[in-house]
Amino acid sequence: MTTTITGIAASPGISIAKAFILQNPELKVVKTKVKDTNEEIQRLEKALEKSKAELEVIKEHASKELGEDKAEIFAAHLLVLSDPELINPIKDKVETEQVNAEFALDEVANMFITLFENMDNEYMKERAADIRDVTKRVLAHLLGVTIANPSMISEEVVIIAEDLTPSDTAQLNRQYVKGFSTDIGGRTSHSAIMSRSLEIPAVVGTKTVTSGVENGTLVIVDGLDGKVIVDPTEEVVNQYQDKKAAYDAQKAEWAKLVDEKTVTTDGQHVELAANIGTPDDVQGVLENGGEGVGLYRTEFLYMGRETLPTEEEQFEAYKAVLERMGDKPVVVRTLDIGGDKELPYLDLPKEMNPFLGFRAIRLCLEMQDMFRTQLRALLRASVFGNLKIMFPMIATLDEFREAKSILLEEKEKLQGEGIAVSETIEVGIMVEIPSTAVMADLFAKEVDFFSIGTNDLIQYTLAADRMNERVSYLYQPYNPAILRLVKNVIDAAHKEGKWAGMCGEMAGDEVAIPLLLGLGLDEFSMSATSILKARSQILRLSREELRSDAQKALMMNTAEEVKRFIEEKYIN
Ligand code: PEP
Ligand code: MG
Repeated sequence: MTTTITGIAASPGISIAKAFILQNPELKVVKTKVKDTNEEIQRLEKALEKSKAELEVIKEHASKELGEDKAEIFAAHLLVLSDPELINPIKDKVETEQVNAEFALDEVANMFITLFENMDNEYMKERAADIRDVTKRVLAHLLGVTIANPSMISEEVVIIAEDLTPSDTAQLNRQYVKGFSTDIGGRTSHSAIMSRSLEIPAVVGTKTVTSGVENGTLVIVDGLDGKVIVDPTEEVVNQYQDKKAAYDAQKAEWAKLVDEKTVTTDGQHVELAANIGTPDDVQGVLENGGEGVGLYRTEFLYMGRETLPTEEEQFEAYKAVLERMGDKPVVVRTLDIGGDKELPYLDLPKEMNPFLGFRAIRLCLEMQDMFRTQLRALLRASVFGNLKIMFPMIATLDEFREAKSILLEEKEKLQGEGIAVSETIEVGIMVEIPSTAVMADLFAKEVDFFSIGTNDLIQYTLAADRMNERVSYLYQPYNPAILRLVKNVIDAAHKEGKWAGMCGEMAGDEVAIPLLLGLGLDEFSMSATSILKARSQILRLSREELRSDAQKALMMNTAEEVKRFIEEKYIN
């Protein structure tokens, strides 16, 4: 029977394919006494063999689909499974203590993991991560549960999951993964943001999609209206194929604007830039007519791996982006880890409120070796293009001053080593914490630019976790409180002759765009796939005319009132 599940439209487009349920099963280990230890050891041997066979297949597949370097990790996992130093103590434990294999494996593995993780040695830390991964696989076999493996997908599917971490999303194979839907998350959760840059239709925050869909069922993901249609009839499939064709035709119209400048009807140019996560995304920026990169989220360089990227690796990535963008501006944000973006290998303690915790610039100012490595890589790359550096999550002037002085120290060191560094790098901040938005007049005297990060600014201003779909109604970009903060930031920048941009998702929102034009925003940075639509809209608007309407919106009572006002006047 056909059912419809509603959620939040996170990435536009329509996809129709079979469901692939991606679940991380709970692996609960209970200690039991066994009589026949030989039988238990045989059970262990079997689970080891099955895990090895599985890893061989995954390794083959990964080297074909993702390249040798990605496949290497599975070779390392295979080595762990054959290592007598790990396996023998497990067998000994089963024999001497007469315990079940799951328990013995879990205990011994945890002992090694703790030991290796506490060593001051990156190589050993990596081995701890390998053991953790491999143990999970063997345990799953012993417990008789299946671990789904997204890298093994070899037919067109729609992924259904409770949640997708940003690194899961980064590993999705675009050839086969046609769409996805999750129980949790909001429009600004990072998996949603990634899905837009990968151009994969997505519906998030459905609360129930994992319980409402079975593996292999045909599903339609409608990323335009935020719906998942499960087990559709032929008639419904036909309707959606028409809807998809209409959307594709609309996209073809927008595509004609790729080389146009973004100029309002009263002749004012605004910059339409793109948000990227990896150097590979630059192609999408250029194909979609991006006039710059307004936000390079460098944390993706640090994710989906087991150790920190080296200075050289980072240098290559930044240089690649800068070179490919030519003289167009590239705003690189320094590491913004934390919140929903975890780095397991840093082994930071779990926090009660990760979005309010030890993250981004807070973490970088404390873990300075890591921060300095990134800054050196950026400074070295600066001579290859038009680099601007931006610090995330700045809450106080002191944080900005400290970050900037570290940057200047590294610059001097490099110059002392005879290494060329650009003399024209602008240094700015993300405005995503209300204290900074309120104090924008003082910040504006010291920074070169602002980029307003509304994804976080809205969550902090309305005190509503951006990952929690139950409070997603409070993600209110048109709330006059947000508009007033945005105005404060733009006015403060202009008063000091600086520029103000926006790189939160609000910048690409069709209701927000007229308001932001009216408030005087200089640069709009969004998912590359939103640029052409935004350009087609801005080409029909007059900044001068919008000024008074934006002022009116500031005085309205609710977000809903603002939305209706703008929709009636400016959205057809
Ligand atoms: C923001 O907070 O608006 C932003 C652009 O940063 P991120 O989404 O990466 O937190
Ligand atoms: Mg942010």
